[in-house]
Amino acid sequence: MMIQLDPLATEEQEQHLIARLEKMGFQIARQGAGRLALVKGVDKLVKLEEFSKLPHVASVKPMKEKFKLASLASKPAPTVIEIKGKKIGGGSLFVIAGPCSIESKEQMELCAKAAFDQGAQCLRGGAYKPRTSPYEFQGMEGEGLDILKAAAEKYNLITVSEVMDASQIETASKRVDILQVGARNMHNFSLLKELGKVKNPILLKRGFAATYQDLLLAAEYIISAGNPNVILCERGIRTFETYTRNTLDLNAVPALKELTHLPIVVDPSHGTGIRSLVLPMARAAVAAGADGIAIEMHPDPDRALTDAQQTISFEAFAKMMAQLKLIHKAVQSC
Ligand code: PEP
Ligand code: MN
Repeated sequence: MMIQLDPLATEEQEQHLIARLEKMGFQIARQGAGRLALVKGVDKLVKLEEFSKLPHVASVKPMKEKFKLASLASKPAPTVIEIKGKKIGGGSLFVIAGPCSIESKEQMELCAKAAFDQGAQCLRGGAYKPRTSPYEFQGMEGEGLDILKAAAEKYNLITVSEVMDASQIETASKRVDILQVGARNMHNFSLLKELGKVKNPILLKRGFAATYQDLLLAAEYIISAGNPNVILCERGIRTFETYTRNTLDLNAVPALKELTHLPIVVDPSHGTGIRSLVLPMARAAVAAGADGIAIEMHPDPDRALTDAQQTISFEAFAKMMAQLKLIHKAVQSC
């Protein structure tokens, strides 16, 4: 349920009303501009009219969505996340670029320079890798995160890297700006709850078989545990198609915009799994209104230790960025 307060209600009166509702057993979240979301304790037996009689209440609306705090109904203005002066959401194009895995200092410095030169804001690189086989490269862990941080700082970039379980959060949250939840972990609710306790924004990737509602409920776990800064990521889902690694579901961009205020980033690298398809699908993502894209690139893509077949070169990245800037400008002026 959403309660819109009288615009003349003072902070004290709002606090008073919150305390009263909490006493009645509801869990309340403030959604800005005199909006209160009742997220817990509301059931079918509660009558809306009773709430409209409370002091300083202007209107009361039911919220049909299961995801309360992530819903557009609870917060109509888009969430804009700002990290070290770089903005995610609200109209700008946020570009994440870097290798699938952090492999060495040299590799990350070259990637940071290429990202910076083309106007990307965020350097990516996995240090804890969710590999299908235990015999494959598992990532450089803490040492890799130090390399990522140093390379990014040199070029004034922010960083993103995946945490696979709660034991990695402490190390990663000190070294990385944005913590990533991978597709395989989108349903790991205990990890999501732990990420609700950190200050770092979270890049939440859609699970292989997750619906939009599943993705938004995963975001709800993080937000309701105290961290409002969640960035959603469409990275492709499993379908019967086998030519591509995944099917990049670009419906997700406009559909999620109808459902949530959270920023939406598209990852055409994992979404296609094929180098030659990354550029056209990145273009399509920006045209569809994505708030950002996440791209895997490498100084020597064929020799990347992980995901080589979907990793693009610096030249291809430069070409992509030139095109995306044009498309983004066109979308903004539509
Ligand atoms: C990644 O970004 O490197 C990754 C493993 O992504 P996903 O979880 O989407 O497969
Ligand atoms: Mn990868």
